[in-house]
Amino acid sequence: MTDSEFYNFVIVGAGPAGLTAGIVAARNGFSAIILEKGEIASPKPRGEGMAHGKIVDDILGKDYLPSIGLKSNGGRVWHSPGDLQITTTYKEYPHYFFEWREFIDRFVEVAQDLGVKILLKCEVIEPIEKESTCIGVKYKDASGSIQELHGNVVLDCSGYSAVLGRHYGIPYDEEIICPIVKCLISKANIDIKETPDLQFYFIGNGDLEYSPRFPQCVAYLFPLANKRAEVGLMLRMAQARSMKTVTIPSEDEIMKVWDEIKKSYPGYSVFFKGAKIDYEELTWLPNAKMVENYSPISGVILIGDSAAFVNPFGSSGLLYSMEMANFWVNILTTDLKELSGQKKEISEVNKKLFESIDEYKKKFEEFEVYEQVKGYYSLIGAFEYKIFNRLRTAEKINKKWDYIASLLKQA
Ligand SMILES: Cc1cc2nc3c(=O)[nH]c(=O)nc-3n(C[C@H](O)[C@H](O)[C@H](O)COP(=O)(O)OP(=O)(O)OC[C@H]3O[C@@H](n4cnc5c(N)ncnc54)[C@H](O)[C@@H]3O)c2cc1C
Repeated sequence: MTDSEFYNFVIVGAGPAGLTAGIVAARNGFSAIILEKGEIASPKPRGEGMAHGKIVDDILGKDYLPSIGLKSNGGRVWHSPGDLQITTTYKEYPHYFFEWREFIDRFVEVAQDLGVKILLKCEVIEPIEKESTCIGVKYKDASGSIQELHGNVVLDCSGYSAVLGRHYGIPYDEEIICPIVKCLISKANIDIKETPDLQFYFIGNGDLEYSPRFPQCVAYLFPLANKRAEVGLMLRMAQARSMKTVTIPSEDEIMKVWDEIKKSYPGYSVFFKGAKIDYEELTWLPNAKMVENYSPISGVILIGDSAAFVNPFGSSGLLYSMEMANFWVNILTTDLKELSGQKKEISEVNKKLFESIDEYKKKFEEFEVYEQVKGYYSLIGAFEYKIFNRLRTAEKINKKWDYIASLLKQA
């Protein structure tokens, strides 16, 4: 094997998690390569708003986020089914909205300045194992040829595709991912100067006469500058998959329902009067359940969306994917420093490193960020069970809205 085929960190996916991992590995003095299946890093826009946590300054540079962002006022307006009642909550923390491409390009710039190699149009297909330890990946390059790369640690940062997580049997489709429509509009019928709050519309199962068995969902609008807005529909699957009254919809059905909601859902459809759709796509967000086994084999760690390490209430997958990548690369490089100085086969180094996995996991699970994410999942679990499963329809949810509003104030 030549040196160019070996990197300490082999990273799958150039999203916020993979790019953070590459940056931290390089800053700690280790070689890192990122394989990205798209023609550019993170080709599809995903989250475009995040809290200005310390990690963002550490990775992208001090105050880079405010320099490209529009500060949110922290307000959220929650609309009951049918838009019959509303509750507004405020969360005081620095939160910014920005353009996806500008955000991602900055990661790429920082990573490349540090010597992280990013291979585009390279789709990872499967892990390479030796003696029950992952020692690299196979990938299809831009010409369609199958290539191999070896490394001490393989980080699956491939988002909901979770190519290695799926390979090791993690039930994303059955338990973890939720469909979400991502849409960007201009000439929106809303002005951020007058209405700066985020808007969320709860829709119960059984509420839509054009699709009575459609799962419970939340239509949202995040106002942006110049009469633009991010809008979309999040299907809430944590309860839905076990509810007798729900039929899991096809992709076509989801888009048909989304079209109707844009046209006629009380309160929400108003934003679309005269608006132009600039981007619209059905995608998936892993936020029904956390992945418990985020190191499914020695040599591999699932990071970010592939570990469903997000705030399931929304708006924090970016921050948490960066935090998780930072944590794991830092902890692994501490021991890797010592091990890679010794004369050993790669598989021996990898195996030795992962002998401490239980200790690393314990530290991660004691990390306050992990505790926050876990806390959000248990809160949303109880909340959704009560509202979307037990109460379920507009009539019952509306009757208990005062109680629901009190829960929303804690979220
Ligand atoms: C519609 C929507 C709105 C959201 N809004 C917000 C928000 O406002 N704020 C917030 O914080 N979070 C938000 N999120 C969540 C946030 O975007 C994600 O949590 C975050 O992007 C996760 O980063 P990641 O790097 O783990 O995965 P991703 O961003 O999904 O990146 C994965 C990368 O891996 C690549 N890839 C996939 N498969 C392969 C393969 N086999 N080989 C090579 N490359 C591969 C992909 O092309 C992609 O570049 C939103 C998500 C969605 C879908």
